[in-house]
Amino acid sequence: WLQLLKRPLTLSDGSRYLLAVAVDITERRQMEQMKAEFIATVSHELRTPLTAIRGAVSMLSSGMAGDMPEAATPLLEIADHNSERLVRLINDILDIEKLESGRLSFHWEALPLATLVEAALRDNTPLAASFDVTLVAEGNPVDALVEVDRHRFAQVMANLISNACKHSPPGSRVVVSQTRRGSSWLEVAVSDQGSGIPLTFQPRVFERFAQADASDRRRTGGTGLGLAITQALVAEMRGEIDFTSTPGEGSCFQIRLPRPDPSSVTVAKEAP
Ligand code: ADP
Repeated sequence: WLQLLKRPLTLSDGSRYLLAVAVDITERRQMEQMKAEFIATVSHELRTPLTAIRGAVSMLSSGMAGDMPEAATPLLEIADHNSERLVRLINDILDIEKLESGRLSFHWEALPLATLVEAALRDNTPLAASFDVTLVAEGNPVDALVEVDRHRFAQVMANLISNACKHSPPGSRVVVSQTRRGSSWLEVAVSDQGSGIPLTFQPRVFERFAQADASDRRRTGGTGLGLAITQALVAEMRGEIDFTSTPGEGSCFQIRLPRPDPSSVTVAKEAP
């Protein structure tokens, strides 16, 4: 439609007309802004009492309020586990909202890919161990820079690695590899030997709140927001995310990041 409107229309008598359509988007913008503010306020308001609840549960569990009856321990664990899930959900909703409205701030730095991957392996090893999964690096470290926000890059890696672990059988491996793709791109891949993603669900993997199986939410405690956030974060880093998955065999998620123009970057000093 836009292209048609941009071209002049020539009628049979030879007269030419230019059509222009003006759409007032002020109201839509205002609605979007109200929605963003509402989400941000509600999420913040939920976080404060939740922090107090988590503090109280932790004090009860630690015995600060005196000895608890034996039957209370599993109940406190349920309260702790579920309040932690709520915190994660609220943080995810806040992240999505900020990403959408362009209010998520990034602290850009040029860092060696190898250092970032090494940090991700180190930070996520305890999580993998809790699933009885071995987290391993494959291939040579890539000694090239990427321009990222180190905390957001760590969040992307944590999402991919925790997904891989959550869907892997005990005793299996999750492999993280890094490769150069041509002269302008670097790739990090996280692959697992897990359940794989059902073919019918694959087109919806990056949708918000989408989970392959309704029982995923109970079993893995996920929210279905992780990959939507991961995709948006990678896009902010001017990168791309993709995956291949074979049901019953496993999945491999790849992120590709562009190599920054060497003349425009300053190398960050401290390691992540
Ligand atoms: P969450 O993990 O919180 O459920 P995500 O957005 O991270 O949400 O993932 C969405 C869904 O995609 C998951 O619920 C799961 O069904 C599927 N999925 C993601 N990664 C994997 C993986 N490595 N193996 C199998 N299924 C996966």
